[in-house]
Amino acid sequence: MITEKIQSYTKFSDLQSALKTGQLKVVDLIEYYCERIEKFAHLNAFLEVFKVEALLRAEEIQKKIDIGTAGKLAGMIIGLKDNISFKGHEMTASSKILKGYHAVYSATVTKRILQEDAIIIGRLNCDEFAMGASNETSFFGPVKNFADETKVSGGSSGGSAVAVQADLCFASLASDTGGSIRQPAAFCGVVGLKPTYSRVSRYGVVAYASSFDQVGPITKSVEDAALILEVIAGNDVHDSASSNLKVPEYSKLLDDKSKKKIAYIEETLHSDGLDPEIKDNILSQIQKLKDEGHTVEPVSFEFLDYVVATYYILTTAEASSNLARYDGVHYGYRSPDATDLMSTYKKSRSEGFGEEVKRRIMLGTFVLSAGYYDAYYSKAQKARRLIKEKMDHILENYDFIITPTTPTPAFNIGEEITDPVVMYLADIFTVGASLAGLPAISIPSGKNKAGLPIGMQVIGKRFKEENLLAFAKNLYR
Ligand code: GLN
Repeated sequence: MITEKIQSYTKFSDLQSALKTGQLKVVDLIEYYCERIEKFAHLNAFLEVFKVEALLRAEEIQKKIDIGTAGKLAGMIIGLKDNISFKGHEMTASSKILKGYHAVYSATVTKRILQEDAIIIGRLNCDEFAMGASNETSFFGPVKNFADETKVSGGSSGGSAVAVQADLCFASLASDTGGSIRQPAAFCGVVGLKPTYSRVSRYGVVAYASSFDQVGPITKSVEDAALILEVIAGNDVHDSASSNLKVPEYSKLLDDKSKKKIAYIEETLHSDGLDPEIKDNILSQIQKLKDEGHTVEPVSFEFLDYVVATYYILTTAEASSNLARYDGVHYGYRSPDATDLMSTYKKSRSEGFGEEVKRRIMLGTFVLSAGYYDAYYSKAQKARRLIKEKMDHILENYDFIITPTTPTPAFNIGEEITDPVVMYLADIFTVGASLAGLPAISIPSGKNKAGLPIGMQVIGKRFKEENLLAFAKNLYR
């Protein structure tokens, strides 16, 4: 009875009313999710569950609800991607090299959700150091897609997406460097929002590529994504890149029914490897928007063939520098065979990092090396500028850009992991917004014939998440 009731809430505001009127207790939620996490443990979404702690906190939050002093997220049970610090708790970024590392402070996003009385239920599996598009690079193994367990969850935030898809927690926090929130959200039929670069503090989040990384929510509804963004966004003294623009109350700005001007990128529809069912899906979305009275027009984005290369040159360069700190001395794993300083570095890193991470460190150091810097890194910086200017230019004339989130639906576990280039191409539609620093959301857009979810991406104007969210809510309710 209670189980069915909990399952029926797809919007947090409904669940919160049930908590306020006493139809539901916070502890019921913890029991419910813990039971499901156990029942679906084989999906491999959770790396750790904080059951005892969550139960204790549930009592505390319940009291606040009862006396009317509870915060905005009271009763929201959230899972954290394993690259977001939560003081005193293990955090590994799904890497062997960080196994056993316990966060010495909480990330700003963690602090902010806790301040609003959310309950963190556990740590979620992801690709190692958030590098991947299938969650298969995790030291702890792949996450299975709840829609079809032979398929990948997407990545790198596969655990965060499946946890929401399979109802193992109400919402999750994840990070997105080139699509890691949006792509798994699309593969799993849930909502994933990557905010404008610098809208959300990166303090306490394991750095992958610092000029791209953003934290955002994965949820069942657009309303909940808006509510979580409103809590986590805003300036932070600990992240000097974080914007000091005022944070709007996104959750209260969702009622915009005005007609919009929308662009779709012509090249995405002719792109090699675009699944025909996904193509039909986006074409029918375009028709639907036109029928509703919006203006929808094709635009040309001649850089589509260059976005993946540009993204991988820049992010591997940044990653090779960010990952220098894992040296067997400061953090986590140290090789038992190390005999001196050099062998400590070499052996700890060789044994501690997985294949994909090592590949990226090598690519990154290569593109930054003296002889090749101009040919690769500096050229990619210039390409990034052109891509950003082009996207900004499109958004001067249009309110939004829509694209499929991914070229294909979730693929088979084991299918693409053997060919890095094939895997990198899975990011073709998501990395553009990342290179340009623009906000983008993936919303569910039905399923293919095999029953696999399809996602549609909407890219908005810089720092205009309120418009993006309001539009997405009209599309997906
Ligand atoms: N798949 C992309 C990559 O491997 C995106 C990852 C991410 O956004 N963290 O870099």
